[in-house]
Amino acid sequence: MIDRYAGIAPKGDLMLLQRLGEIFRGRSFLHVNSTRAGGGVAEILQRMMPILEELGIDARWEVIEADDRFFDITKKIHNAIQGYGEKITEEMWRYYYEVNRSNAGRIDLGADAVFIHDPQPASLIEFRKRRGTWVWRCHIDVSNPVKEVCDHLMRYCEKYDATIFSVAKFTRAISVDEYIIPPSIDPLSEKNRELSDGEINEVLERFGIPGERPILLQVSRFDRFKDPIGVIKAYRMVKKYNDCILILAGSPATDDPEGEVVLNEVREYAAGDPDIFILLLPAFSDREINALQRSATVVLQKSLKEGFGLTVSEAMWKGKPVIGGATGGIPLQIVHGYTGFLVHTPEGAAFRIRQFLNNAAMVKRMGERGREHVRANFLITKQVRDYLSVWYILENKGKTVYEL
Ligand code: UDP
Repeated sequence: MIDRYAGIAPKGDLMLLQRLGEIFRGRSFLHVNSTRAGGGVAEILQRMMPILEELGIDARWEVIEADDRFFDITKKIHNAIQGYGEKITEEMWRYYYEVNRSNAGRIDLGADAVFIHDPQPASLIEFRKRRGTWVWRCHIDVSNPVKEVCDHLMRYCEKYDATIFSVAKFTRAISVDEYIIPPSIDPLSEKNRELSDGEINEVLERFGIPGERPILLQVSRFDRFKDPIGVIKAYRMVKKYNDCILILAGSPATDDPEGEVVLNEVREYAAGDPDIFILLLPAFSDREINALQRSATVVLQKSLKEGFGLTVSEAMWKGKPVIGGATGGIPLQIVHGYTGFLVHTPEGAAFRIRQFLNNAAMVKRMGERGREHVRANFLITKQVRDYLSVWYILENKGKTVYEL
């Protein structure tokens, strides 16, 4: 069972996880989010379900069903929560609520613990059953939101038994318990397992990517917050001094209607440069992403806003030097100057890329530290441990929690 993580994940995490598994054996644990494919939340849930099941927990993952209008509205809410001035009208909020009401009629919300992920399904709380502990799990950056939109959303969030945020800076002045749990990666997944050189080369050949020059890589949805244009700007500055190629790899997420517009902007901006590879990958291209990350010389995640940025831990686990935007959850992963570099501008990114390209010893040193930092803090076994701990604490409120 979770023995397969022995020797990979920290022993203490596995022991506690095992113990919590015994406590919750046979109990039901429901997760609800808004997409089965694309983005970090789906990625984590997909990997977490088998672990919960292996522990003997009756785990279920449901996805809300909605039309384009709903996802247009929730993308605007998402943007506003991340501080990008969007107005949400009363009518939009009503529609948002109605879609959740109809999903509440379709999804069986009865479970001992119910974790609702992100703003899209947050108003499901209005339809909670009497039984069960309800937690709102927020993965996005709420540190500097459009106030009106955030206040409206928080009216739902305050009805939960507790909330979980990824980063301490994201917590809000609200009247429910708040827990801080960063997201995580699964070292045994197809996306993160070891690959042979043959497997890596096969992917590069399939995409027509030359292997002999240094590769700069950013893997992310085509979203302005991920700043793909800024990455191209940085690459162009570097290119004057160091020959290299740039790969921007992304895939569509069903709950992100803006992807195509941003993709077109990026294509236009990159036009005419044969050394920029824009790869639009189908969902679940895990081995391809793994191979691209392993083939990269430097991995970027130059986000302007970021909930956590799983791609950073994915690259660090592979021992890669990383450069990330100094925002959201990225500084948790990138300890500046120790496990990578944090940047604020394309110029800053270009400077750090060149530093990596010209200093192999530093690349190796930071890569090794990065992998250990991920092992200690951002593996999925720790996140499952923490989710079960929150459930335990909430169920045992008022009793002693020292029983753990
Ligand atoms: N991802 C993917 N295919 C892509 C782009 C991204 O599988 O074309 C994955 C990526 O490897 C990571 C997740 O989607 O596991 C993105 O999570 P992150 O936290 O970086 O960003 P989010 O999309 O959730 O904002």
